[in-house]
Amino acid sequence: MKKYDYIIIGAGFFGAIAAYELTRKGYHCLVIEKRNHIGGNCYTKNIEGINVHQYGAHIFHTNDKEIWDYVNQFATFNRFTNSPVANYKGELYNLPFNMNTFYQLWKVKTPQEAKAKIEEQSAEYKNIIPRNLEEQALKLAGKDIYTKLIKEYTEKQWGTDCKNLPAFIIKRLPFRFTFDNNYFNDKYQGIPVGGYTRIFDKLLENIEVRLETDYFADKDYFDSLAENTIYTGPVDLFYNYCFGKLNYRSLRFENELLETDNFQGNAVINYTSHDQKYTRIIEHKHFEFGIQPKTYITKEYPQDWNDALEPYYPVNDEENNAIYLQYKHLAEAEANVIFGGRLAEYKYYDMHQVIGSALARMKKIEEKRK
Ligand code: FAD
Ligand code: UDP
Repeated sequence: MKKYDYIIIGAGFFGAIAAYELTRKGYHCLVIEKRNHIGGNCYTKNIEGINVHQYGAHIFHTNDKEIWDYVNQFATFNRFTNSPVANYKGELYNLPFNMNTFYQLWKVKTPQEAKAKIEEQSAEYKNIIPRNLEEQALKLAGKDIYTKLIKEYTEKQWGTDCKNLPAFIIKRLPFRFTFDNNYFNDKYQGIPVGGYTRIFDKLLENIEVRLETDYFADKDYFDSLAENTIYTGPVDLFYNYCFGKLNYRSLRFENELLETDNFQGNAVINYTSHDQKYTRIIEHKHFEFGIQPKTYITKEYPQDWNDALEPYYPVNDEENNAIYLQYKHLAEAEANVIFGGRLAEYKYYDMHQVIGSALARMKKIEEKRK
């Protein structure tokens, strides 16, 4: 008999929910986390009374009532609706692409006028099956929107030409003919009052968590502690890169505390041209409608990933997906290891999707036991 039923590597959403659900069912769990805090990339830290999203803006949204009810057990969500503004060479546009944007671009005032303008702008792409992000964007939105709001932002974000990127990335954004600046189409949306870290405090209450502990620093020892493993780190690292390295995109965050109560009047402003090297500026207080005398802002600079940097985004292009498939076969053949989350499943998951995936996996464990 080993000391724990499960060792869980990573205290992000996948790991924390796995630990919570398994503990509830009577399993004895140990969570190890290499960072000095829980919460993974959703971690928030209180600075001058402002809950700062330390790893980029995190807005919770879902269409799934079960997942919404689930997270609401652990926090009260406010009514925040993400409505970023784009700054292209000093001109401001509402996002996502909607009637406000179309008016700002072309002074069109009705959906009919907007549709006619977009048809004219995208005419030459009408009959193509988009093979990449550029073709998808041109077909969907036409030349002006692609040039001013998509092309350069995407090149900065992903460090490559839009022709080299999969079409699905741009399909994340709504495109609508109403005056509605809501960035998401989902039924439920908000920010946990008091920050995300509180959710993780509750999920991991009464569970043994060892911070600043890297699984790979002593893998054999950690494996000897538990019957089963739940792993939420990069899948290629787990297998010692035996099929080659997967590529990720990283970010650098530049933070500033400013002696003003309101710097930009919105939580998120995207910079959609190459004039700035950052993609967006986040003003954290606006996520919770803060009225503090100071403000805290973060500029987000995308960068190429290497071993010394955090792997924030999987690069789900054909080449990397093919490498991932090989790792996936190995992972699926493991009897006592579950791979879950953005890094272990190499998927551009949002929070609600990671929660859904974790809950489904924990349900399977329960069904197996019965
Ligand atoms: P993570 O949060 O990455 O947690 C994995 C944990 O495992 C980390 O804490 C890591 O330190 C730890 N770990 C890894 N390897 C080891 C090891 N060897 N030993 C010990 N510990 C280890 N989603 C939304 O829904 N809305 C948003 O607005 C949103 N915005 C985002 C903005 C940015 C900039 C980024 C990068 C992501 C955003 N996301 C958003 C996605 C969201 O962050 C993820 O879906 C979610 O955090 C994934 O949870 P996870 O548990 O899979 O991974
Ligand atoms: N995007 C864009 N212009 C913008 C915002 C987003 O072209 O002003 C594109 C870009 O390619 C980005 C993708 O849409 O990678 C998805 O955007 P989202 O805001 O969902 O990205 P995330 O918050 O995950 O970084």
